[in-house]
Amino acid sequence: MDLYEHQARELFEEHGILVPRAEVTDSPKEAREIARRLGGRVVVKAQVKTGGRGKAGGVKLAADPAAAELTARQILGMDIKGHTVGKVMLAQPVDIETEFYVSYVLDRAAGGFLAIASAEGGMDIEEVAATRPDAVVRVHIDPAEGVTSAKAGEIADAAGLPPQTVDVLVRLWEVLIREDALLVEVNPLVRTRQGQILALDGKVTLDDNARFRQARWGAEGAEHDDPLEAVAAAKGLNYVKLDGEVGIIGNGAGLVMSTLDVVAGCGARPANFLDIGGGASAQIMADGLTVILSDPAVKSVFVNVFGGITACDAVADGIVQALDTVRLTKPLVVRLDGNNAARGRVILDERAHPLVQQATTMDGAAHKAAQLANAA
Ligand code: ADP
Ligand code: MG
Repeated sequence: MDLYEHQARELFEEHGILVPRAEVTDSPKEAREIARRLGGRVVVKAQVKTGGRGKAGGVKLAADPAAAELTARQILGMDIKGHTVGKVMLAQPVDIETEFYVSYVLDRAAGGFLAIASAEGGMDIEEVAATRPDAVVRVHIDPAEGVTSAKAGEIADAAGLPPQTVDVLVRLWEVLIREDALLVEVNPLVRTRQGQILALDGKVTLDDNARFRQARWGAEGAEHDDPLEAVAAAKGLNYVKLDGEVGIIGNGAGLVMSTLDVVAGCGARPANFLDIGGGASAQIMADGLTVILSDPAVKSVFVNVFGGITACDAVADGIVQALDTVRLTKPLVVRLDGNNAARGRVILDERAHPLVQQATTMDGAAHKAAQLANAA
């Protein structure tokens, strides 16, 4: 999960990295008040989870509170690379002498982290990296050792950063470790004309596997491309929206992935998929079906369960109970196999819902679901 700049700024501040004073708002009127509090002149910054805001017109200097209100009005609602600006951050302007680039990023291949740094940071860093790769240095970090002062000194030396940045480099590593981040990036890290080192922009990507430890970012930070994904996540379901017409429910990531392939092989496209995981209680089935059926693109649903630890009769019970709470509006094809499959099939047969049909093989079920979707 990516954080907004203002959230990254907050983390930097908590870890003792100097940042400009700043406040966030979604209202132009309030922007004027904030500008007044911050001393009049402010930088108005679009809060969207994408870079290149400056070049897109999403970062602007306002000379006084009235201008701040006007600029905020301009930037709020703006589209930046497909992201609509819902909030702006107003920050005190900083007297920049030099802009640097620093980041720590997970390096899966090397089994460690990578420090990337450049003495030529700022909005053109991509161009610098492309045309003069030597101006951007990469230093491997052993995760067990981390970034000590000595290591930070090595990174600063290699990149040509001034010695005052060493302390920031150590603190930035603390942000990465303590906040469970996979990436922290500061561009620009600046030296002011007064000689201070400040982080003017921040990008932080948190490790979703550590979300349970980072509950503070829950509501605002959680970003789902699809509203149904958000609903599913709130119910603890693993749901992904796709572009096709066949809704897919399965148990276990491997089975679900191969179900997508088999449906595609039958000439239909998956509309989404939902992994009910190891335990398929009636509640999980009901929640899952509700989510899948709420997707207007779904023309048929394929429930593909291979009972291992999960017993198929429990899944069938779940489907039957779900049919009592969810109004089924689209045909459902169910394939149960493995643990207690025979018992499960009987339960579904006895329920005899007109829109539910069963198939004994995965291929057979996929064909049926694809046919139903294509005929609808
Ligand atoms: P992005 O990287 O999305 O373009 P930044 O936050 O890096 O957005 O802002 C772009 C540029 O605006 C920075 O490189 C810096 O030169 C300038 N800038 C940003 N914040 C401030 C600030 N508080 N004071 C002065 N200049 C700023
Ligand atoms: Mg930037």
